[in-house]
Amino acid sequence: MSGEENRKVKPVIEVRNLYKIYRVGETKVRALNGVDFAIRRGEFCAIVGTSGSGKSTLLNMLAGLERPSRGEIVIAGKHIEKMNENQLVAFRRDHIGFIFQSYNLLGTMNALENVALPLSFRGIEKKKRTALAARYLKLVGLERLEDHMPNQMSGGQQQRVGIARALVVKPEIIFADEPTGNLDSHTTMDVLRLMQQIVREQNQTLIMVTHDDHLAAYADRIFHIIDGKIVKIEEHARQDGGAGGEEEEG
Ligand code: ADP
Ligand code: MG
Repeated sequence: MSGEENRKVKPVIEVRNLYKIYRVGETKVRALNGVDFAIRRGEFCAIVGTSGSGKSTLLNMLAGLERPSRGEIVIAGKHIEKMNENQLVAFRRDHIGFIFQSYNLLGTMNALENVALPLSFRGIEKKKRTALAARYLKLVGLERLEDHMPNQMSGGQQQRVGIARALVVKPEIIFADEPTGNLDSHTTMDVLRLMQQIVREQNQTLIMVTHDDHLAAYADRIFHIIDGKIVKIEEHARQDGGAGGEEEEG
């Protein structure tokens, strides 16, 4: 395989004919109603829609947290709808980072320990864990808060820890479900730019769910979802936090 071939073939995520139907008593809820798309490596995609449109269902399914009723999800060349629980756990550990709206930090661990946690699941020894975690905390601007417990940090600071924790293992793909949903508008922009900047530098793929069109405008592509269907995919010119325009790599 030539490098050139590698570059243009194979999207990092492919979704085909995806359905998720929940049964609630007698009724069926079609949370995803026939979804198809492909995402390239290094893309920043936003999934936008009103509450109840199926955004979280889609994201959870892509991350292997929930199973589809029907359809295919191919990530990094692997069919995740065919995996068993153990394979899914290993798949998430090796390929996926997840950033939650509610941060989901462990309250009994300080910032540094929270960031280091995913490294211990990968069997990395303590000294290296600590060094890497410290590096990522610095990357998100929290080098002075290593010893702080979650309840001693603001929402924006906790989400920065959440971002460092998701990124510390260098996952190919990062999923973020309303990552700024609990933050004020100023902090929201800081967190959004930070995520965008880091994933771009590391050529990672970022999929962010939001109900806010303004935030979605930062993405390379915007997927609009209504009633479990992608009704429109908008392509965007890259907007960089600073100078804008077409600059690539610094
Ligand atoms: P969003 O994230 O866009 O707000 P969701 O993906 O959470 O939407 O939900 C999509 C639809 O599926 C909604 O109608 C919701 O009520 C329904 N739904 C989500 N999860 C479940 C579940 N576990 N059981 C039954 N219905 C669900
Ligand atoms: Mg949701």
